[in-house]
Amino acid sequence: MHSAEALPESLRAEVDRLLSSGDLFRYTADSDAPATLLEAEFAEMMGSRFALAVSSCSAALFLSLMALDLPRDARVLIPGFTFAAVPSAVIHANCLPVLCEVGENYRIDIEDFKTKLPDVSAVIISHMRGHTSDMDAIMALCEAADVPLIEDAAHSLGTTWSGRRIGTLGKIGCFSFQSYKMINAGEGGILITDDADLVARAIIMSGAYEHNWKKHPVLQDAFARHQNKLPLYNLRLSNLSAALVRAQLPELPRRIKDGLRNHDLVAARLATSPYIDVPAPLPPEVRAPDSIQFNLTGLSDETIRAFSAAAAASGVKVQVFGQSADNARAFWNWQFIPDLPELPATRAVLMRACDVRLPVHFTTEHCENIASTLLEALENVTRAAA
Ligand SMILES: *Cc1c(COP(=O)(O)O)cnc(C)c1O
Repeated sequence: MHSAEALPESLRAEVDRLLSSGDLFRYTADSDAPATLLEAEFAEMMGSRFALAVSSCSAALFLSLMALDLPRDARVLIPGFTFAAVPSAVIHANCLPVLCEVGENYRIDIEDFKTKLPDVSAVIISHMRGHTSDMDAIMALCEAADVPLIEDAAHSLGTTWSGRRIGTLGKIGCFSFQSYKMINAGEGGILITDDADLVARAIIMSGAYEHNWKKHPVLQDAFARHQNKLPLYNLRLSNLSAALVRAQLPELPRRIKDGLRNHDLVAARLATSPYIDVPAPLPPEVRAPDSIQFNLTGLSDETIRAFSAAAAASGVKVQVFGQSADNARAFWNWQFIPDLPELPATRAVLMRACDVRLPVHFTTEHCENIASTLLEALENVTRAAA
Protein backbone atom coordinates (compact mmCIF):
# COMPACT_ATOMS: atom_id res chain seq x y z
CA MET A 1 0.00 0.00 0.00
CA HIS A 2 3.03 2.28 0.23
CA SER A 3 4.42 1.48 -3.21
CA ALA A 4 5.42 4.47 -5.29
CA GLU A 5 5.20 5.29 -8.98
CA ALA A 6 8.48 5.20 -10.92
CA LEU A 7 9.94 8.65 -11.47
CA PRO A 8 9.81 9.98 -15.06
CA GLU A 9 12.54 8.86 -17.47
CA SER A 10 12.98 12.52 -18.41
CA LEU A 11 14.82 12.94 -15.11
CA ARG A 12 17.86 10.90 -16.03
CA ALA A 13 19.66 13.52 -18.12
CA GLU A 14 19.20 16.22 -15.47
CA VAL A 15 20.28 13.95 -12.60
CA ASP A 16 23.34 12.90 -14.64
CA ARG A 17 24.17 16.57 -15.21
CA LEU A 18 23.91 17.29 -11.48
CA LEU A 19 25.97 14.23 -10.57
CA SER A 20 28.75 15.05 -13.00
CA SER A 21 28.87 18.75 -12.13
CA GLY A 22 28.35 18.25 -8.39
CA ASP A 23 26.20 21.37 -8.51
CA LEU A 24 23.82 20.41 -5.69
CA PHE A 25 23.68 23.60 -3.58
CA ARG A 26 20.98 25.95 -4.80
CA TYR A 27 23.03 29.13 -4.42
CA THR A 28 26.22 28.03 -6.25
CA ALA A 29 25.11 28.80 -9.81
CA ASP A 30 24.58 32.43 -10.78
CA SER A 31 21.22 31.62 -12.34
CA ASP A 32 18.83 28.85 -13.35
CA ALA A 33 19.57 26.52 -10.41
CA PRO A 34 16.94 23.73 -10.35
CA ALA A 35 15.61 25.02 -6.99
CA THR A 36 15.14 28.50 -8.50
CA LEU A 37 13.50 27.11 -11.64
CA LEU A 38 11.17 24.99 -9.49
CA GLU A 39 10.05 28.09 -7.59
CA ALA A 40 9.27 29.92 -10.83
CA GLU A 41 7.39 26.95 -12.30
CA PHE A 42 5.43 26.21 -9.14
CA ALA A 43 4.41 29.85 -8.64
CA GLU A 44 3.32 30.03 -12.27
CA MET A 45 1.35 26.78 -12.02
CA MET A 46 -0.45 27.96 -8.88
CA GLY A 47 -0.96 31.52 -10.07
CA SER A 48 0.97 32.95 -7.09
CA ARG A 49 3.50 35.77 -7.17
CA PHE A 50 6.19 34.06 -5.09
CA ALA A 51 7.34 30.57 -4.11
CA LEU A 52 10.08 29.37 -1.75
CA ALA A 53 11.30 25.77 -1.96
CA VAL A 54 12.32 24.30 1.41
CA SER A 55 13.24 20.99 3.03
CA SER A 56 9.69 19.94 4.06
CA CYS A 57 6.15 21.17 4.51
CA SER A 58 6.91 21.33 8.24
CA ALA A 59 9.73 23.77 7.45
CA ALA A 60 7.34 25.78 5.25
CA LEU A 61 4.79 26.00 8.10
CA PHE A 62 7.50 26.98 10.59
CA LEU A 63 8.91 29.67 8.28
CA SER A 64 5.39 30.97 7.57
CA LEU A 65 4.79 31.53 11.27
CA MET A 66 8.25 33.08 11.72
CA ALA A 67 7.71 35.36 8.71
CA LEU A 68 4.46 36.60 10.26
CA ASP A 69 6.61 37.93 13.11
CA LEU A 70 4.21 36.81 15.84
CA PRO A 71 5.12 37.59 19.45
CA ARG A 72 6.49 34.77 21.61
CA ASP A 73 3.69 32.54 22.96
CA ALA A 74 1.21 33.80 20.35
CA ARG A 75 -1.74 31.45 20.04
CA VAL A 76 -2.22 29.70 16.71
CA LEU A 77 -5.47 27.93 15.86
CA ILE A 78 -5.04 24.50 14.22
CA PRO A 79 -7.46 21.62 13.57
CA GLY A 80 -7.76 18.90 16.21
CA PHE A 81 -7.38 16.40 13.37
CA THR A 82 -4.12 16.82 11.50
CA PHE A 83 -0.61 15.36 11.41
CA ALA A 84 1.60 15.92 14.49
CA ALA A 85 3.97 17.98 12.30
CA VAL A 86 1.48 20.87 12.42
CA PRO A 87 1.34 21.47 16.20
CA SER A 88 5.09 20.72 16.17
CA ALA A 89 5.74 23.57 13.70
CA VAL A 90 3.73 25.88 15.98
CA ILE A 91 5.80 24.88 19.03
CA HIS A 92 9.00 25.21 16.97
CA ALA A 93 8.00 28.82 16.17
CA ASN A 94 7.64 29.59 19.92
CA CYS A 95 3.85 29.76 19.62
CA LEU A 96 1.07 27.87 21.38
CA PRO A 97 -1.29 25.58 19.43
CA VAL A 98 -5.03 26.05 20.09
CA LEU A 99 -6.98 23.02 18.89
CA CYS A 100 -10.28 23.32 17.04
CA GLU A 101 -12.88 20.54 16.92
CA VAL A 102 -13.57 18.81 13.60
CA GLY A 103 -16.84 17.26 12.45
CA GLU A 104 -17.73 13.78 11.23
CA ASN A 105 -16.68 14.86 7.73
CA TYR A 106 -13.12 15.57 9.06
CA ARG A 107 -13.51 19.30 8.45
CA ILE A 108 -13.25 22.27 10.82
CA ASP A 109 -16.28 22.71 13.11
CA ILE A 110 -17.13 26.31 12.20
CA GLU A 111 -18.96 27.00 15.48
CA ASP A 112 -15.92 25.97 17.54
CA PHE A 113 -13.71 27.95 15.12
CA LYS A 114 -15.80 31.08 15.75
CA THR A 115 -15.55 30.58 19.51
CA LYS A 116 -11.76 30.23 19.49
CA LEU A 117 -10.81 32.74 16.77
CA PRO A 118 -10.95 35.90 18.98
CA ASP A 119 -8.10 34.53 21.15
CA VAL A 120 -5.58 33.68 18.43
CA SER A 121 -2.97 35.60 16.39
CA ALA A 122 -2.87 33.26 13.39
CA VAL A 123 -4.73 30.30 11.91
CA ILE A 124 -3.34 27.21 10.20
CA ILE A 125 -5.97 25.23 8.30
CA SER A 126 -4.79 21.71 7.52
CA HIS A 127 -6.70 20.30 4.62
CA MET A 128 -6.28 16.94 6.33
CA ARG A 129 -6.02 14.02 3.90
CA GLY A 130 -7.09 16.54 1.24
CA HIS A 131 -10.49 17.28 2.82
CA THR A 132 -11.22 20.99 2.45
CA SER A 133 -13.00 22.78 5.28
CA ASP A 134 -15.58 25.50 4.56
CA MET A 135 -13.03 28.00 3.25
CA ASP A 136 -15.65 30.65 2.43
CA ALA A 137 -16.65 30.81 6.09
CA ILE A 138 -13.07 30.54 7.36
CA MET A 139 -11.70 33.23 5.01
CA ALA A 140 -14.54 35.62 5.88
CA LEU A 141 -14.07 35.08 9.63
CA CYS A 142 -10.27 35.49 9.44
CA GLU A 143 -10.62 38.63 7.33
CA ALA A 144 -13.17 40.17 9.70
CA ALA A 145 -10.93 39.39 12.69
CA ASP A 146 -7.77 40.49 10.79
CA VAL A 147 -6.08 37.17 11.59
CA PRO A 148 -3.61 35.79 9.00
CA LEU A 149 -4.53 32.42 7.49
CA ILE A 150 -1.91 29.81 6.58
CA GLU A 151 -3.05 26.85 4.49
CA ASP A 152 -1.40 23.52 5.23
CA ALA A 153 -2.00 22.04 1.78
CA ALA A 154 0.60 19.27 2.26
CA HIS A 155 -1.90 16.73 1.04
CA SER A 156 -4.02 18.94 -1.23
CA LEU A 157 -1.88 19.70 -4.26
CA GLY A 158 -4.41 19.80 -7.12
CA THR A 159 -7.54 20.33 -5.02
CA THR A 160 -9.75 23.27 -6.02
CA TRP A 161 -12.36 25.28 -4.11
CA SER A 162 -14.89 27.08 -6.34
CA GLY A 163 -12.31 26.67 -9.08
CA ARG A 164 -9.52 28.35 -7.04
CA ARG A 165 -6.40 26.36 -6.21
CA ILE A 166 -6.11 25.20 -2.61
CA GLY A 167 -3.03 26.82 -1.08
CA THR A 168 -3.78 30.16 -2.77
CA LEU A 169 -6.77 31.10 -0.59
CA GLY A 170 -4.87 32.10 2.55
CA LYS A 171 -1.99 34.53 3.02
CA ILE A 172 0.47 31.63 2.65
CA GLY A 173 0.08 28.09 1.29
CA CYS A 174 2.42 25.22 2.24
CA PHE A 175 2.94 21.94 0.34
CA SER A 176 4.90 18.72 0.88
CA PHE A 177 6.98 16.63 -1.52
CA GLN A 178 7.42 13.78 0.98
CA SER A 179 6.91 10.37 -0.62
CA TYR A 180 3.28 9.84 0.41
CA LYS A 181 2.09 13.07 -1.22
CA MET A 182 1.09 13.86 -4.81
CA ILE A 183 4.69 14.63 -5.81
CA ASN A 184 7.41 12.37 -4.41
CA ALA A 185 10.91 13.72 -3.84
CA GLY A 186 11.46 11.67 -0.68
CA GLU A 187 11.46 14.93 1.28
CA GLY A 188 10.80 18.54 0.37
CA GLY A 189 8.28 21.33 0.59
CA ILE A 190 7.35 24.71 -0.83
CA LEU A 191 5.47 27.79 0.32
CA ILE A 192 3.59 30.23 -1.89
CA THR A 193 2.34 33.75 -1.20
CA ASP A 194 1.61 37.05 -2.95
CA ASP A 195 3.22 39.05 -0.11
CA ALA A 196 6.71 40.31 -1.09
CA ASP A 197 7.80 41.31 2.40
CA LEU A 198 6.62 38.05 3.93
CA VAL A 199 8.39 35.88 1.37
CA ALA A 200 11.56 37.99 1.68
CA ARG A 201 11.64 37.27 5.40
CA ALA A 202 10.98 33.57 4.82
CA ILE A 203 13.70 33.40 2.14
CA ILE A 204 16.33 34.92 4.42
CA MET A 205 15.37 32.69 7.36
CA SER A 206 15.37 29.60 5.10
CA GLY A 207 19.11 30.17 4.72
CA ALA A 208 19.70 32.80 1.99
CA TYR A 209 22.68 34.14 3.92
CA GLU A 210 24.72 37.20 2.88
CA HIS A 211 23.42 38.27 -0.54
CA ASN A 212 22.09 34.94 -1.74
CA TRP A 213 18.61 36.48 -1.67
CA LYS A 214 19.60 38.31 -4.86
CA LYS A 215 19.04 34.99 -6.65
CA HIS A 216 15.31 35.18 -5.81
CA PRO A 217 13.11 37.25 -8.12
CA VAL A 218 11.40 39.21 -5.34
CA LEU A 219 11.26 42.99 -4.99
CA GLN A 220 14.81 43.61 -3.80
CA ASP A 221 13.98 46.48 -1.45
CA ALA A 222 11.98 44.01 0.63
CA PHE A 223 15.27 42.25 1.39
CA ALA A 224 17.34 45.32 2.12
CA ARG A 225 15.11 46.04 5.13
CA HIS A 226 15.86 42.65 6.69
CA GLN A 227 19.57 42.18 5.91
CA ASN A 228 21.41 40.77 8.96
CA LYS A 229 18.33 41.20 11.15
CA LEU A 230 16.85 37.70 10.94
CA PRO A 231 18.12 34.31 12.15
CA LEU A 232 19.12 31.73 9.51
CA TYR A 233 17.50 28.32 10.02
CA ASN A 234 18.95 26.59 6.91
CA LEU A 235 15.89 24.76 5.65
CA ARG A 236 16.83 24.93 1.96
CA LEU A 237 15.99 22.39 -0.73
CA SER A 238 18.88 20.84 -2.65
CA ASN A 239 19.05 21.04 -6.43
CA LEU A 240 18.76 17.26 -6.65
CA SER A 241 15.43 17.25 -4.79
CA ALA A 242 14.26 20.20 -6.87
CA ALA A 243 15.06 18.28 -10.06
CA LEU A 244 12.97 15.32 -8.80
CA VAL A 245 10.02 17.63 -8.17
CA ARG A 246 10.32 19.54 -11.47
CA ALA A 247 10.22 16.35 -13.54
CA GLN A 248 6.94 15.36 -11.86
CA LEU A 249 5.06 18.64 -12.37
CA PRO A 250 3.87 17.60 -15.87
CA GLU A 251 2.54 14.34 -14.34
CA LEU A 252 0.29 16.20 -11.93
CA PRO A 253 -2.88 16.52 -14.06
CA ARG A 254 -2.87 12.75 -14.71
CA ARG A 255 -2.24 11.94 -11.06
CA ILE A 256 -5.09 14.22 -9.96
CA LYS A 257 -7.49 12.63 -12.46
CA ASP A 258 -6.51 9.04 -11.58
CA GLY A 259 -6.54 9.73 -7.84
CA LEU A 260 -10.10 11.05 -8.01
CA ARG A 261 -11.16 8.13 -10.22
CA ASN A 262 -9.70 5.60 -7.75
CA HIS A 263 -11.21 7.35 -4.76
CA ASP A 264 -14.69 7.67 -6.25
CA LEU A 265 -14.68 4.06 -7.40
CA VAL A 266 -13.86 2.75 -3.91
CA ALA A 267 -16.20 5.29 -2.26
CA ALA A 268 -19.16 4.12 -4.36
CA ARG A 269 -18.48 0.47 -3.52
CA LEU A 270 -18.05 1.12 0.22
CA ALA A 271 -21.20 3.24 0.36
CA THR A 272 -23.22 0.08 -0.38
CA SER A 273 -22.45 -1.20 3.15
CA PRO A 274 -24.92 -0.26 5.91
CA TYR A 275 -21.93 0.03 8.28
CA ILE A 276 -19.98 2.60 6.24
CA ASP A 277 -20.43 6.33 5.81
CA VAL A 278 -18.13 8.02 3.27
CA PRO A 279 -18.41 11.79 3.90
CA ALA A 280 -19.22 13.68 0.70
CA PRO A 281 -17.07 16.58 -0.52
CA LEU A 282 -18.39 20.07 0.18
CA PRO A 283 -20.07 21.46 -2.97
CA PRO A 284 -17.27 23.95 -3.96
CA GLU A 285 -14.59 21.26 -3.55
CA VAL A 286 -12.94 19.12 -6.25
CA ARG A 287 -10.40 16.87 -4.60
CA ALA A 288 -7.11 15.26 -5.65
CA PRO A 289 -7.08 12.28 -3.26
CA ASP A 290 -4.50 9.53 -2.86
CA SER A 291 -6.32 7.82 0.00
CA ILE A 292 -9.85 7.30 1.25
CA GLN A 293 -11.39 7.97 4.68
CA PHE A 294 -14.70 6.60 5.88
CA ASN A 295 -16.59 6.21 9.16
CA LEU A 296 -17.79 2.90 10.56
CA THR A 297 -21.29 3.24 12.00
CA GLY A 298 -23.11 1.16 14.62
CA LEU A 299 -20.11 -1.08 15.44
CA SER A 300 -18.42 -1.71 18.77
CA ASP A 301 -14.73 -0.86 19.26
CA GLU A 302 -14.08 -4.60 19.34
CA THR A 303 -15.74 -5.16 15.95
CA ILE A 304 -13.90 -2.16 14.51
CA ARG A 305 -10.58 -3.63 15.59
CA ALA A 306 -11.59 -7.06 14.24
CA PHE A 307 -12.40 -5.42 10.89
CA SER A 308 -9.00 -3.75 10.74
CA ALA A 309 -7.28 -7.08 11.58
CA ALA A 310 -9.35 -9.02 9.01
CA ALA A 311 -8.56 -6.49 6.26
CA ALA A 312 -4.85 -6.57 7.17
CA ALA A 313 -4.87 -10.39 6.98
CA SER A 314 -6.22 -10.04 3.42
CA GLY A 315 -3.49 -7.55 2.51
CA VAL A 316 -5.29 -4.19 2.90
CA LYS A 317 -4.05 -1.91 5.64
CA VAL A 318 -6.87 0.00 7.34
CA GLN A 319 -5.76 2.48 9.94
CA VAL A 320 -8.48 3.47 12.40
CA PHE A 321 -6.99 6.80 13.49
CA GLY A 322 -8.10 6.62 17.12
CA GLN A 323 -7.58 2.88 17.63
CA SER A 324 -4.04 2.35 16.35
CA ALA A 325 -1.36 2.76 19.03
CA ASP A 326 0.49 6.10 19.17
CA ASN A 327 -1.13 7.40 15.97
CA ALA A 328 0.49 10.74 15.06
CA ARG A 329 -2.88 12.09 13.85
CA ALA A 330 -4.66 11.50 17.16
CA PHE A 331 -4.47 14.74 19.18
CA TRP A 332 -4.15 12.94 22.54
CA ASN A 333 -0.73 11.77 21.36
CA TRP A 334 0.51 15.38 20.96
CA GLN A 335 1.65 15.38 24.56
CA PHE A 336 4.37 17.95 23.83
CA ILE A 337 1.60 20.61 23.82
CA PRO A 338 1.35 22.38 27.18
CA ASP A 339 -2.11 21.89 28.77
CA LEU A 340 -3.26 19.59 26.00
CA PRO A 341 -7.06 19.98 25.86
CA GLU A 342 -9.74 17.33 25.36
CA LEU A 343 -11.80 17.53 22.15
CA PRO A 344 -14.76 15.20 22.69
CA ALA A 345 -16.27 15.55 19.21
CA THR A 346 -12.94 15.02 17.42
CA ARG A 347 -12.10 12.06 19.66
CA ALA A 348 -15.45 10.42 18.83
CA VAL A 349 -14.79 10.88 15.08
CA LEU A 350 -11.25 9.46 15.29
CA MET A 351 -12.45 6.32 17.13
CA ARG A 352 -14.34 5.15 14.04
CA ALA A 353 -12.68 6.99 11.15
CA CYS A 354 -10.75 4.67 8.83
CA ASP A 355 -7.87 5.52 6.53
CA VAL A 356 -6.87 3.46 3.48
CA ARG A 357 -4.16 4.51 1.05
CA LEU A 358 -5.06 4.52 -2.65
CA PRO A 359 -1.82 5.52 -4.41
CA VAL A 360 -2.71 7.20 -7.69
CA HIS A 361 -0.83 4.66 -9.80
CA PHE A 362 -3.15 1.86 -8.60
CA THR A 363 -5.28 0.51 -11.44
CA THR A 364 -9.08 0.41 -11.26
CA GLU A 365 -8.82 -3.39 -10.98
CA HIS A 366 -6.55 -3.02 -7.96
CA CYS A 367 -9.01 -0.54 -6.43
CA GLU A 368 -11.96 -2.90 -7.07
CA ASN A 369 -10.02 -5.60 -5.21
CA ILE A 370 -9.35 -3.27 -2.28
CA ALA A 371 -13.06 -2.39 -2.07
CA SER A 372 -14.05 -6.09 -2.24
CA THR A 373 -11.53 -6.99 0.47
CA LEU A 374 -12.85 -4.25 2.77
CA LEU A 375 -16.50 -5.20 2.21
CA GLU A 376 -15.78 -8.91 2.77
CA ALA A 377 -13.81 -8.24 5.95
CA LEU A 378 -16.67 -6.09 7.24
CA GLU A 379 -19.26 -8.70 6.37
CA ASN A 380 -17.31 -11.44 8.13
CA VAL A 381 -16.74 -9.53 11.35
CA THR A 382 -20.31 -8.19 11.56
CA ARG A 383 -21.74 -11.69 10.92
CA ALA A 384 -19.46 -13.10 13.64
CA ALA A 385 -20.53 -10.32 16.04
CA ALA A 386 -24.26 -10.81 15.36
C1 LIG B 1 2.53 15.22 5.28
C2 LIG B 1 1.84 16.29 5.99
C3 LIG B 1 2.56 17.30 6.67
C4 LIG B 1 4.05 17.27 6.82
O1 LIG B 1 4.75 17.33 5.61
P1 LIG B 1 6.35 17.12 5.64
O2 LIG B 1 6.79 17.55 4.27
O3 LIG B 1 6.60 15.67 5.88
O4 LIG B 1 6.90 17.98 6.72
C5 LIG B 1 1.84 18.31 7.26
N1 LIG B 1 0.50 18.36 7.20
C6 LIG B 1 -0.23 17.43 6.56
C7 LIG B 1 -1.72 17.55 6.50
C8 LIG B 1 0.42 16.35 5.94
O5 LIG B 1 -0.31 15.42 5.31
